[in-house]
Amino acid sequence: MMKPLKTLLLAAMPLAGGAQEATSPELFTYKVGAYEVILLPESQGQGNTSILIGATPKMIRQAIPDGTYPNAVNAFLVKTPEGNVLIDTGFGRQLTKNLATADITPDDIQMLIITHAHGDHIGGMLTGDDQPAFPKARLVTSAVEKRYWVDEKKQVQAVRAFHAYSDRAELIQPEELDRQRGDGIFFIDAPGHTPGHIACLLRSEGEQLLVWGDLTHAMAIQMPYPEVSVTYDTDPMQAAKTRLQILRFVAQHRIPVAGMHVAYPGMGYVKEVKEDSFRFEPLR
Ligand SMILES: [Zn+2]
Repeated sequence: MMKPLKTLLLAAMPLAGGAQEATSPELFTYKVGAYEVILLPESQGQGNTSILIGATPKMIRQAIPDGTYPNAVNAFLVKTPEGNVLIDTGFGRQLTKNLATADITPDDIQMLIITHAHGDHIGGMLTGDDQPAFPKARLVTSAVEKRYWVDEKKQVQAVRAFHAYSDRAELIQPEELDRQRGDGIFFIDAPGHTPGHIACLLRSEGEQLLVWGDLTHAMAIQMPYPEVSVTYDTDPMQAAKTRLQILRFVAQHRIPVAGMHVAYPGMGYVKEVKEDSFRFEPLR
């Protein structure tokens, strides 16, 4: 029996007049047609300028005058009529607790999508003894990403994570964002942050949401100046090119977006304020 999410959220709120603080993070839900997209926040914090590539002193003065900006680590749950889909797993520290708040157990996840193989996205894929944390989920990730981290770099965490799911992994070739028609979950090519980084376009009943993975890490400066990349980007030039392309597309088509490093509620609309310079309006 599914409990309505609202009830659970109310239960997690601080008691009026009491000394008790809320201990559960507040989940945030957004409807996309028949899909329900739930933010699973892992952490909220402040970033600094040390990770920025290509930010001039003038850009910093204008966009982030005190040198810091809000950021976050998020995963997203998508409840669909066909089953539950988890997009990324964060570091894995809050994931099980967040899912439980949404009344979902690890066994209830049918599909696990990994946007790319960095530790803050694959951290929750395994149990303590290296078994799949989502035993009934099939894993979807890009063939290029798996090849890069597992076969070429032999990155230990990625090797372990992908190995545990090898009997249920689907390695996909991502598609172009502007070619998608109809309903479903589409895997969108978004290279640069990592070679096989993908975004997920969710479409249901004429509504859509682009879960863009790590297209941005410092929204406050990368919205007005999409040319600013970060040190985590494998290919900063390609990351900037992909970012600009996707920002133009979602702004032009009014497609709401969700990001793994976008501060709470992790979702919003992108508006182009002048040529190739954007503003983010968080959902409320
Ligand atoms: Zn990340």
